Amino acid sequence: MAKSPTGKRAPESLRQATRLVHGGTLRSEFGEMSEAIFLTQGFAYDSMETAEKRFTGEEPGYQYARFSNPTVTMFEKRMALLEGAEAARATASGMAAVTAAVMGQVKAGDHIVAAKALFGSCRFIVEELAPRFGVECTLVDGGDLEQWRKAMRPNTKTTFIETPTNPQLDILDIRAIADIAHAGGATLVVDNVFATALLQSPFEYGADCVVYSATKHVDGQGRCLAGCILGSEKFIMDNVHNYLRQTGPALSPFNAWVMVKSLETMGLRVHQQVANAVQIADFLAEQKAVKRVLYPFRKDHPQYELAKRQMKGGGQVVVFDLADKAATFKFGNALEIIKISNNLGDAKSILTHPATTTHQRIPMAGRLEMGIGEGMLRLSVGLEDVEDLKEDLAQALKVLG
Ligand SMILES: *Cc1c(COP(=O)(O)O)cnc(C)c1O
Repeated sequence: MAKSPTGKRAPESLRQATRLVHGGTLRSEFGEMSEAIFLTQGFAYDSMETAEKRFTGEEPGYQYARFSNPTVTMFEKRMALLEGAEAARATASGMAAVTAAVMGQVKAGDHIVAAKALFGSCRFIVEELAPRFGVECTLVDGGDLEQWRKAMRPNTKTTFIETPTNPQLDILDIRAIADIAHAGGATLVVDNVFATALLQSPFEYGADCVVYSATKHVDGQGRCLAGCILGSEKFIMDNVHNYLRQTGPALSPFNAWVMVKSLETMGLRVHQQVANAVQIADFLAEQKAVKRVLYPFRKDHPQYELAKRQMKGGGQVVVFDLADKAATFKFGNALEIIKISNNLGDAKSILTHPATTTHQRIPMAGRLEMGIGEGMLRLSVGLEDVEDLKEDLAQALKVLG
């Protein structure tokens, strides 16, 4: 059994659930049980010499909360242990994490290849923001490996995917895409939000960097925004460490504390949500008004085999189609327990109509190309009693006649 220098078991030797409860905890001189919120911007030095050494890096320790803060460190360490990554950096939101992970790697003249099916804001980063600074981007159909191969150029620096994708729940082959990226001397960044670290480990399939919106399942109770970037010590130091320190998308210590405490229950929550989602997907598939159900662990999902190979569970999001936009609105307005909103991973079940909300900015033709029809609904399954959820869905479907 691996032991730390203090003779205690090293956190890396503990199982995932234990890491989520104890990983990364730093205790002050008071020995507090619950992790403390260090609500401080700065840190006092014992002497002028200490201050000098902290700034040269000769002596470890905190300087300023834009660089780091003990509560933020606890969140980063717990996230790194959960993912099995060498290093992690927290950010103020998931988008701050994506922006730093991508923009931190590139300079004018470089090239990015990304899958078309991305969270709207992620698409803005690669498709609009990066090109403004002389970084070209090629968007490919993520499931078509031939397109990935053809898109690679000598100056391709990085590739970016999300799997399962939002909202179509397409499953991309992380191993195959990582191999293509690496063969071309590029890195692969995976946005692992929909799967969570509990259901999918992109590093095992060759990813160089994993990014999260902790706003979703990590918080899991719809309170704070946060993000996290994970990778090898070298990847983080070479690409994002200085970028984050100098540009300042720092996570607030309070929000970091919410996330640290939320990680303790994340396993329980996500596993229960997934169990509920499996039942909801099957329930919806039996309903006459439902034209199609998409759930990665259902046999009728187009990439079922890949999902089974790459994921430990199908996730907590279920996507389904009703006849048209009018039907989705009528159905959504009739729901009594399930809320109409656009977060996911929340304890509360949430219904989203992607075509008119999260993906509204994309013109209709682009949306249809991505497989987002006017009749598509995304359901983030929460922690309610699954029978109550089924009853709510059934009574709202009844309104459709
Ligand atoms: C929500 C989300 C993001 C952005 O996260 P924020 O915390 O809202 O900034 C990025 N990627 C995916 C897949 C998401 O669902």
